[in-house]
This record gives sequence, C-alpha cells and structure tokens, in this order.
Amino acid sequence: MTGQDEGLEVAEILVRASDPEQFDAWRHRARATGWCAHPVRLVGITNRIDSSTGEVVGVFRSDELPDRVLLKACGHRRATICPTCSATYQADAYQLVAAGLRGGKGIPETIGEHPMLFLTLTAPSFGAVHAIRQHHGREVRCQIARGRCPHGLLRRCDSTHRPDDQRLGQPICQACFDYRGAVIWNASVGELWRRSTIAVQRQLATRVGLSREQLRESVRISYAKVVEYQRRGLVHVHTLVRLDDAADPGETPDGRFDLTLLTDAVTAAIPGVRCPSPDISVLPGPIRWGAQLDIHPISPDGAVPKSVAGYLAKYATKSTDPAGVLDHRLRAGDLDRLDQKLSPHMARMVRTAWELGALPQLEHLRLRAWAHTLGFRGHWLTKSRRYSTTFASLRAARQQWHLDHGPVEHSPTDITMGQWSYSGRGWASEGDAWLARTAAEDSRTARRVARWELAGPGASPDGRV
Ligand SMILES: [Zn+2]
Ligand SMILES: [Zn+2]
Ligand SMILES: [Zn+2]
Repeated sequence: MTGQDEGLEVAEILVRASDPEQFDAWRHRARATGWCAHPVRLVGITNRIDSSTGEVVGVFRSDELPDRVLLKACGHRRATICPTCSATYQADAYQLVAAGLRGGKGIPETIGEHPMLFLTLTAPSFGAVHAIRQHHGREVRCQIARGRCPHGLLRRCDSTHRPDDQRLGQPICQACFDYRGAVIWNASVGELWRRSTIAVQRQLATRVGLSREQLRESVRISYAKVVEYQRRGLVHVHTLVRLDDAADPGETPDGRFDLTLLTDAVTAAIPGVRCPSPDISVLPGPIRWGAQLDIHPISPDGAVPKSVAGYLAKYATKSTDPAGVLDHRLRAGDLDRLDQKLSPHMARMVRTAWELGALPQLEHLRLRAWAHTLGFRGHWLTKSRRYSTTFASLRAARQQWHLDHGPVEHSPTDITMGQWSYSGRGWASEGDAWLARTAAEDSRTARRVARWELAGPGASPDGRV
C-alpha cells in the first residue's frame, strides 16, 4: 500500500468512527458476519406476517441499517479466501461428522455403538514421484529404482526428503508421468465411489446369504466422505462407513451385521471395483482404486472418533494448492499465468484437464469447468442422507439462535416474506475492510489463547501440544 492509500484509509476510519452511535450500529452488523473478509451487500425488506390474521407484525428493511445495506457473510469454505467463514465451515463440518460418530444434533448417542469404520481409498500410481519413504519405521532415500527412464533421466533419487521439500509430489520424469490418466482418474472418483458402495452391499448380502433386496430391508450403509488432494495432484477419499438398521437409522442393525462382517465385506469389495475407462488410447485397462487400502475399525470409546472428526473437518477446508490459485474456476486466459504461481507438475495437471475438456468423447466429464480441481467434480464433504445432520440445518440452528436472542418478539404462527437483491460484495471502503480484518485477527487470537489455556502446561500458543 502506498502512503497516499494509507492516508485515505485512516480518513475513512475516522469518518466511520466519528459518530459513536452510528459506529456501534455498524460494528454490531459487521460482527454478525463474523468479520467476514468479503461480505455480500443486500438491499430489500422482510415482512413478518401473523398467519392467522394476515396482519404485518414486523418489518425489517435495509434502509434502516448503517449504509442502507444488509451485510451477509460470504460463507466461503477456503481459508485462503475468507479465514472467518472458513473457520465457521470447518466447525460445521466437524459437527456434521461428529454427530454421525457419537450422536448429538438430533442423532441418538447409541449411534456410536453401530458397526463403523474409517476407510481411506487411494489413487493408483501414474508415474514415480518424489516422496517421503519409510522402511521399518526409518526414513529412507526417495527412489530406489535402477537405471534411466526412456527419456534418459536417472530413476534414482538419493535425497531423504523433508516435509517442506518443494520436490515432493513432483514426478521423477514429467514425460513418463501419465497426466491424462491422472486427470481422468480424478474425474472418475465419484463413479468409483458409487460402484464401491454397491460392491460392499453385494459382499454383505452374499456373506449373510441374502438377496440384495432382502439386504435392503435389513440394513443400510451410511457414510460421510471427504476428498483430500495429495501433492502429486491426485485425490484420496477419507470416509466413515456405518451400518444402520434399515427401518430405523438410529437402531443398531441385527447381530449378523457386526464390525467383522463390515470389515470383511469392505476388504473384499474394494480391490475388485472397476469403472470403464473412456475411449482414449492412453489409458490401459479400466479405472480402479490404488492398491493401498487403509481400514480402521471405530470403537465406541470416543477417543478415535474425536480425532477422526477433526481430521475430516480440516481436510474439508483445504485448498487444492497452498497459495489458493486454484480456488476459482479458470478461463482460457488464466492458463498462461499458471507457471508463475503453481509447481510445473500442478500447472501441467491443470493444462491437461483443459486440453482433454475439448475432446467430444469426454464431454460428460466437463473437464474445462473442473480444470481448477484437476478433474475432480463434486463436493469435498458429502454424506449419505441418513448419516447425520446437514449443513443447512446447522446454519438454520445458528440463525434461530440469533432470532431467539434478538430484540424482536415473534410467535410460532408468524411467517416471514422477504424480497432482497444483491447490491455488491466486499466492505464499503478500505477503512471498513481494515477494521474488519483487525477485529477478525483479534477474535482469532482470543480463541487461540483460550484453547492454549484450556490445553494446560506443555501446550504451545498455536495449539500444538
Ligand atoms: Zn466470508
Ligand atoms: Zn526424491
Ligand atoms: Zn521419462
């Protein structure tokens, strides 16, 4: 920021703060956004109507608010875009996952006694990449393959990589790496998952001697899943899989459907799941999961569920790339600038998705619209309908809390009717943005210190113990 801008910012803050009453009103409204980095500005009116008489019993209008606009939090999931809204999303994601593990938010606590496991599904190899490798618990050299690749590059890497090494996830040879295969695999994860749930159902049915229809009458599979990017640009799927009684999802299924049966069914089903590969010659054979399959049974004692919920919630707010370059959809003009901001490997993944997006036979994968996610389409955190609560009901509960603690009296027969339109995005001035940033930082620091004090001696202020 130049000296002139700084002068302007200070002048704007002075204007905002010069009328204490106005400033308090603005601060109250701004705080209601959680000090969002880019709030949406809305103009309009909401009438509250008594449904028995049709009488208007209350009016809420933007005209009466500071700057004549209603500020609403942007609600973005990415910390790189809005730190405060992303913290709210992360907290909601945690509640959503945790409720399906141990109850709460309208889910009975007995849910924790259902057969349940934590499953990580990986991507296969599309070419050797630099990685942290371990042998009998000791970190060892990265690549131990001999000789040279067809492009004359040494296959061997003598480094023992540290976690901050820029080379991690980068291919040993870009020309050897199957970029097309990697992008199409990311784009097929949703279909692979769908087929996996069917395969697990088949295994369950066979093992207890039921038809699939009979199985559906006895037991249901519920799940929550989160997608995480690896440094090599391929996604991993972390998922909680739970068995419920078919008639009542709050009930434990009958004794035949125990944790051993679920574990055996998943272990047998996943390696055989196949998805037809699109008709382009680069891909040998059908699409499948990687060989590495992690299955952890969840015990009802609570220790593991808590860490699993935190782990999944953290992944749900992570960006595809550390700088957040790929947080938005891309346009053709963005492609030339990728190399300045992304690693050569990630830039090539994006470009490959863009190029494949032009092929008519891959039209259904909409790879240009999903080039910024390296081909992966869909949501980061998804769940089956019966797994637990929803983001919408968590948000509604929060809004209800504000209503219940607000100044307006309202009866249960009231209905509200509103008409609102978009007037812009972001704070009204640089001065307001500065005030919001500072307040957001203050409240984050306060939360961190509170956590630190709770954690007790031995903890560090950033929350690590
Ligand atoms: Zn926001
Ligand atoms: Zn290496
Ligand atoms: Zn090569």
